[in-house]
Amino acid sequence: MKWLSKRFTLVIIPDANQSVMQYRISRLILILVPVVILLLGILALLFFLLFSRNALITSKLQNQLTSSAAQYQLQLNVKEENINLLQTDLVQLSEQAQAMEQKMAQINELELQLKQLAGIETYSSTAAASKLITEEGGQGGEELPLPVAGSASFAKETSQHYSDITHQMDELIPQLEETKKEVMKVQQMLRITPTIWPTDSRKVTSLFGVRKDPFTRRATYHAGLDIGGAVGDPIYAAADGTVTRSERDRIHGNNVMIDHGRGISTRYMHMNARNVEVGDKVVKGQIIGQLGNTGRSTGPHLHYEVFVNGENVDPEPYIKGDREEP
Ligand SMILES: [Zn+2]
Repeated sequence: MKWLSKRFTLVIIPDANQSVMQYRISRLILILVPVVILLLGILALLFFLLFSRNALITSKLQNQLTSSAAQYQLQLNVKEENINLLQTDLVQLSEQAQAMEQKMAQINELELQLKQLAGIETYSSTAAASKLITEEGGQGGEELPLPVAGSASFAKETSQHYSDITHQMDELIPQLEETKKEVMKVQQMLRITPTIWPTDSRKVTSLFGVRKDPFTRRATYHAGLDIGGAVGDPIYAAADGTVTRSERDRIHGNNVMIDHGRGISTRYMHMNARNVEVGDKVVKGQIIGQLGNTGRSTGPHLHYEVFVNGENVDPEPYIKGDREEP
């Protein structure tokens, strides 16, 4: 300690004319000053190093942040673009759903027409028909961009449309099957019901009912319809059926009888020739013989009779239709 308390004298001689300055400094100060200066220098260096490192990290982070922000923006742009595309797809899907709904309504309408054509009793399908939207008359108005939140409910609505269509189709298929069955039934009924002229000629020479007998001139009951024509003209089966009679006798001449089922039969008389035999299956419009003048007849004609449950009925209501080519 004694060594430390020893003092030095610092002598400064500025100029020859000026007085000499003397400073007495203790040895402790002499050692402390450079040590403190050195410590301060180390501290400053440490600060500098720390600061420059932080600055580097900060700038690095800033760079990362900038590039991340750019990336996010890019992703955001891509997502926005995707959302736009999805919204466009959604609009297309919705339009397709609407088009499908319209087509469904058209199918329903066609089915209704089909039923009407076939004479099947129809139930209301006007609900389906009323869904028909026409683009005639123009469209317009302000077009606004679709908000993202709005597109969610729009998507839900479109999905609902599709499930509605699926539901309608599920209903329509058995409905059409039923209509098909009914149409087939009507067709079958038409085939076995006498509806056509049995001749090409439309010249009715004598009606059904009470008339003057052409031979005796007395009032008699005429059980059929007489249609005039030329010998050899074709005679057609009035409906599908089975031949129950094919013979010749003095009164009826060459005559054929066909059983059409459901209690309905037709009979053709005074024919020139017969093409069918008992037991033959005939179809509507098939030629079963030739028009003639055989039996009790005053000239070439077909005497045509219709029976319902064994009773003669007026054939006139049964010959409304034109013959289709068999
Ligand atoms: Zn007659």
